[in-house]
Amino acid sequence: MNLFTESNLSPDILKAIGELGYESPTEIQKQTIPFILSDIRDLIALAQTGTGKTAAFSLPILDMIDETSRKIQFLVLCPTRELCLQISKDIKNYSKYMKDIKTTAVYGGSSIMDQIRSLKDKPQIIVGTPGRVIDLINRKALDFSAIHWLVLDEADEMLSMGFKDELETILRETPDTKQTFLFSATMNKEVERISKNYLTTPHRISVGSINEVKKNIKHEYYVVGYRQKKEALKRLIDANPNQYSILFCRTRMETQEVADFLMQNGYAADALHGDLSQAQRDTVMKKFRLKNIDILVATDVAARGLDVNSLTHVIHYSLPDDPEVFVHRSGRTGRAGKDGISISLIKPEESRKLKQIKSTTKIDIVEKFIPTGEDIIKAQVEGVFEKLFTEHEEDIFEFNDSLIPDLSAFTKEELVHKLLQFQLKDLALYYKDKHDLVDQKFSSRDDDYSRRDRDRGRDRDRGRDRDRGDRDVRGSRDSRDRGGKPRRKDENMVRFFFNLGKKDQLKKLDVLEIINKATAGKSKKRAEIGDIEILEKFSFFEVEKSFSENVMSNIPSMKFKGKEMRAEVAN
Ligand code: AMP
Repeated sequence: MNLFTESNLSPDILKAIGELGYESPTEIQKQTIPFILSDIRDLIALAQTGTGKTAAFSLPILDMIDETSRKIQFLVLCPTRELCLQISKDIKNYSKYMKDIKTTAVYGGSSIMDQIRSLKDKPQIIVGTPGRVIDLINRKALDFSAIHWLVLDEADEMLSMGFKDELETILRETPDTKQTFLFSATMNKEVERISKNYLTTPHRISVGSINEVKKNIKHEYYVVGYRQKKEALKRLIDANPNQYSILFCRTRMETQEVADFLMQNGYAADALHGDLSQAQRDTVMKKFRLKNIDILVATDVAARGLDVNSLTHVIHYSLPDDPEVFVHRSGRTGRAGKDGISISLIKPEESRKLKQIKSTTKIDIVEKFIPTGEDIIKAQVEGVFEKLFTEHEEDIFEFNDSLIPDLSAFTKEELVHKLLQFQLKDLALYYKDKHDLVDQKFSSRDDDYSRRDRDRGRDRDRGRDRDRGDRDVRGSRDSRDRGGKPRRKDENMVRFFFNLGKKDQLKKLDVLEIINKATAGKSKKRAEIGDIEILEKFSFFEVEKSFSENVMSNIPSMKFKGKEMRAEVAN
């Protein structure tokens, strides 16, 4: 079957998918559609998001569903509300010309009463999250006696989210005669166990095999110490301009921390994780889809519901434990025939984990070195030209040539030079006197950062801390100059007294983060930060005058390690 028109699907379905632009089936569709249409066995399909799996299971089922019956015949379970909405939308599109077919989505975080009301329409198809489906079973709002097809979509994810009991209940509550199709991106012990207990002699299909997914994705890794990680990340982002990427973290806390760091440094980034409310998650995803933000910092689970095909990069800020998760994450870039880059930041003590990923997945992950300031400027210049010639700016607004002043005194090269200077000034200034990050090495003993390396790393970190203090605290100087004379007062800065000090484990970097947070506003301009002096019980810092109001009004509403903060203008 190379074209849908060669399949046995009904004309109503062919018409609907034709309108969606589907001509030839994807690999998983080639394998599942004929199977589901002709076989009564259960099915285990190993497939990732983006392979076309929704159509793979729903098209043949729609072809066989009894339109005249008003009982639920087809149930899809999936892990998140977003996926639930996506799948039900897809099924509604596929059944557009099957006028008696109704599909209802049921998921948590939304009114159960509204969902009960919509079930009164007697849909034949339910797409739901396991928790909400169980709630509805308990309220006797769902009748599963006529279920003929049950799909477990992203089974691995549902299990890792703790839906094991709910899945088992639903598998038991639905008729034994049903056909069960289990779709999973990865196959682990839990998924195997569910399959063994609840599926009968399943047929197995696997698509997007590890090697196939990899072809158009370039994998790079950078060894970087814990304390250099954020600075290294900043450099990697700067060295890859015009990116539209997902950055994966391991925990919700790390996700928020990294997103905050990026936002404070002026990047269009945001966080997506389970500590956010549903409404907040929706807003972040919408902003990402609309490209109002171009770096999404997410946990594996939260990123699942997001179906975006044009990612240029995937960044593994922290490596996952499971090699298959690495493959799955990376496979989110390099879609729709485009190339993709997967970047991993690896701590010196993670060599064994990296080795395991390499050997299990057979992916060639190449070691690279953290870009220098020079590398970054070079990449940024290329990025400017790439953007200039791929985006059709001329379509955006009419430009009257008479507005251009007389530039005949300059050569073409001089003008380009000036424009680049103008465009990249801030970045160039930032990297101007920065030391390169010291490239880290794996320790010789596997997984064990040997003492010598550790000490060396510590020394480097110390050195770097010093550098960082000097670099990040713009205009930072000791209160006295080298000759011991009192420092000249900067009229443009305001000196603040701050109620926390060394005893509260306050570090310079913390003060920087606090000030950045307190002064982050809508405008891209960042507050100039001067001297930071941390004493035992309190501290002093200097901030650009025009931001002093923000410091005073915002700091009292923030906390540091649970402690109240207070900043007052120092005498
Ligand atoms: P899925 O893996 O189901 O999330 O599908 C990924 C994307 O591929 C969705 O945007 C589908 O609309 C699209 N898609 C699925 N099957 C086809 C096909 N045969 N031809 C073109 N696009 C497809």
